Amino acid sequence: MSNEFHQPVDAAKVPRFAGHSTFMRLPVVETAKGLDIALVGIPWDGGTTNRAGARHGPREVRNQSSLMRRAHHVTGIQPFSVANVADVGDLTVNPIDLQDSLSSIEAGIRAIVEEGAIPLSVGGDHLITLPILRAVSQGRKLGLIHFDAHSDTNDRYFGDNLYTHGTPFRRAIEEGLLDPQRIVQIGIRGSIYETGEHDWAKEQGVRIIYMEEFVERGAQAVMEEARRIVGDQPTYVTFDIDSIDPSMAPGTGTPEIGGFTTREAQQMVRLLRDVAIVGADVVEVAPPFDVGNVTALAGATMLFELLCVVAGQVSARR
Ligand code: MN
Ligand code: MN
Repeated sequence: MSNEFHQPVDAAKVPRFAGHSTFMRLPVVETAKGLDIALVGIPWDGGTTNRAGARHGPREVRNQSSLMRRAHHVTGIQPFSVANVADVGDLTVNPIDLQDSLSSIEAGIRAIVEEGAIPLSVGGDHLITLPILRAVSQGRKLGLIHFDAHSDTNDRYFGDNLYTHGTPFRRAIEEGLLDPQRIVQIGIRGSIYETGEHDWAKEQGVRIIYMEEFVERGAQAVMEEARRIVGDQPTYVTFDIDSIDPSMAPGTGTPEIGGFTTREAQQMVRLLRDVAIVGADVVEVAPPFDVGNVTALAGATMLFELLCVVAGQVSARR
């Protein structure tokens, strides 16, 4: 432990409802220099095909993250004691220019990675994961553990548009950013545009674990398989909040009933401890559709769960 590390505002001195709204009540810093883990907002939903609003996600997740305390109650990990973590603010985005946004998101994440920090991002719609992967892959084909109601491997929308939140993982496979044999998607469900919608992904070798299979086998067995699929090689983790049931996370653009409970989602993220995580995100929190901020709270809590796993890994490597 180093007392050089950034610390959250002391809740015994400033109550948690007071002060600036930042991720986990950490200081906001200009760059990721000296950080082990950078918490970063990406307030952009220009890839949304139906109900927009995830651009408001980072601000509300910051707000709800004031409910997080210092230590994980199961693993005992105290992320701010074992890793240097801060809020690096929001990346530059352009709400009316998709390609400009993809470029600036990639540049923003690249700047974090070049400082040697692991980016934990809060979106934003799921298209943000494509430029993040462009920045973190660094010439490697990464593995992917993907929690979602949707596979997000469609080809094109509204004519020939290749870039939407329904296509990021198809583009990432095509661009050689991901090894399709090391991708596992968990929680997929809901109606599809056409039968065979997931065939392309399956033909590439992507393992799709539909919700029905998850219910049959349970979190432990599914995550053991996920761990085997990604192996010990570098892996990215992406958590779409719509993987959680809309009764517990209604504030999202494309809700699908029959999802994970928040408890199942927490259990699965804790089982990522042996995965070589090079970055992670929580996406698709859309506050305009939220009720009593429960979705933003779920997003903030999943961010804390991911933070504790990654901080544990940082500390083990030291
Ligand atoms: Mn998604
Ligand atoms: Mn989804």
